[in-house]
Amino acid sequence: PRYPVYSTGAFSPRIAPSSQASSRRCLATQIDYTVAGPHSDNQKERVVILGSGWGGYNLSRKLSPKIYSPIIISPRSYFVFTPLLTDTASGSLDFSNIVEPVRDPRAKVNFIQAAARAVDLNKKTILCEATVVKSGVTESPRVGGNERQTEEGPETTNMKPMQAQRQWEQGELFEIPYDKLVIAVGAVSRTFGTPGVRENAMFFKDIGDAKRVKRRVRECFELAVLPTTTPEMRKWLLNFAIVGAGPTGIELAASLRDFIYADMMALYPALNEIPKLNLYDVAPKVLSMFDESLSRYAMETMKSEGIDIKTSHHVKSLRWGPPGAPPPYEMDPKRCLTLTTEEEGEVGVGMCVWTTGNAMPKFITQSLDAVDPFPADSVLNIEGSSVTPTSAEQAWKFKKAPKKGPLLVDGHLRVQLENESGQTAVLRDVFALGDNAMPETGAPPATAQATFQEAKWLAKRLNKDDMAQTPPFSFKNLGTMAYLGNERALMQIPHENDGTMNRFLPGGIKGRTASLIWKAAYITMSISWRNKLRIAFRWTLNRLFGRDVSRF
Ligand code: FAD
Repeated sequence: PRYPVYSTGAFSPRIAPSSQASSRRCLATQIDYTVAGPHSDNQKERVVILGSGWGGYNLSRKLSPKIYSPIIISPRSYFVFTPLLTDTASGSLDFSNIVEPVRDPRAKVNFIQAAARAVDLNKKTILCEATVVKSGVTESPRVGGNERQTEEGPETTNMKPMQAQRQWEQGELFEIPYDKLVIAVGAVSRTFGTPGVRENAMFFKDIGDAKRVKRRVRECFELAVLPTTTPEMRKWLLNFAIVGAGPTGIELAASLRDFIYADMMALYPALNEIPKLNLYDVAPKVLSMFDESLSRYAMETMKSEGIDIKTSHHVKSLRWGPPGAPPPYEMDPKRCLTLTTEEEGEVGVGMCVWTTGNAMPKFITQSLDAVDPFPADSVLNIEGSSVTPTSAEQAWKFKKAPKKGPLLVDGHLRVQLENESGQTAVLRDVFALGDNAMPETGAPPATAQATFQEAKWLAKRLNKDDMAQTPPFSFKNLGTMAYLGNERALMQIPHENDGTMNRFLPGGIKGRTASLIWKAAYITMSISWRNKLRIAFRWTLNRLFGRDVSRF
């Protein structure tokens, strides 16, 4: 869609004196940065980074402030250390222990809280929508009416009936010019079009999601002990479902298992034996990217800890209301939901968390789908054709492989475009990394590990300005870990660093040793010293006093 751009106060575009513009200076429409960009310097190249996740945040911190003036545009004013998100949902860590603020006086990085809506390759500008009062399009909403992003695009919350967007919630639109653009907007949850999932499931990508999961578990326990709750409803409210047995689903089930069986049962002894945790997956095994023996170990360990692993189960639908209830199926958090599978039929559940993989956000699938003609000098080279850059003034389309998939990038993370005749062009100044990008060869897995390596590699290349002489990016697999609950984990160690996930040392590391390595690794990898210390301190406190069981 084409958005109308209107006056936006301090961010109103104004025209730069183009005759004074140096080659290192942005030639497009200028913005008044007196408030928004205290670290801006017109003598430096402006690198606009979309997203404050693993790709965007880490890249911005590694770009040389002597050469570049980086600006992050993201609906989220913080970075989330996602590997420990499950620990916050289970009260093992505070939410603040795993976030880093994007605004940091020590890092010379500018920030605007907004979502990118469209790219103009001709003017070299990004059309943005401010999301300050919405608290982020990828977050779960605060109170009803806010939007979150799924593969189908923004939607309103499932915790309140759909509400029309209020006037004050509509973000201001403005354009931000760039010299170099880095797209790192990540991915959204994939529902495979399963009926009722988009409206009624919880997703698990951000702090807001972790807060909602924790709050709902507590809510279900309180509802279950109300004297008015029937034994049947009590059983359903305390029947929790997680769909997707990849690393996120497994670690969430493991953390919730610790929370429910160790901490909640101490608070609600009368509910002993009633709570159940079910992990569903359509595949015949869990953790399919792990070695067969480790996957089997994960399944056996989690089963022995009381998690019901339901592999080869096909989820058909999810709706509010108990099994067998007649329509209408309106949302009612005081009661349970019904999860229907091909194998079990209808089952009552207090909560269903959906963790079945990635889809591309609307910005990638729609806003970048078709672009207007753009100047030939933005094209680095055109492969497989005799067309020279000077005659390239024609409409180009972003290449999608597969359709609706991530942006295709070359080995140097430069976005590739394709025109209607199938000719491919590599853009000079537009890069993509992380979950929203797919290198044409040797695509790394969609993980924080791979995204961090890409961000580091790209920052180094840009700082040294040696892209042309450097071999393409290659992913170095440092191993994969998963927490299994009850202080047990597993770790798969790569056999050869050939950039694939397919070769590993047989057996790996399992059990309590792996759990200690898991903890040490994540403390080490956490970004700030403040959070490293907070995490270590909280894990120690948990051993003495148990996890945080508060409900806000
Ligand atoms: P993200 O980190 O998701 O960041 C995307 C950013 O873009 C966000 O700041 C978002 O707000 C912003 N954004 C969205 N839309 C727009 C827009 N229109 N305009 C501007 N900005 C926008 N990987 C591992 O290697 N190990 C693990 O243990 C691990 N555990 C995980 C646990 C969980 C619960 C989850 C969800 C993921 C986990 N991952 C793990 C995967 C890892 O987090 C992702 O691969 C990684 O975050 C991808 O980085 P990214 O920068 O592409 O996207």
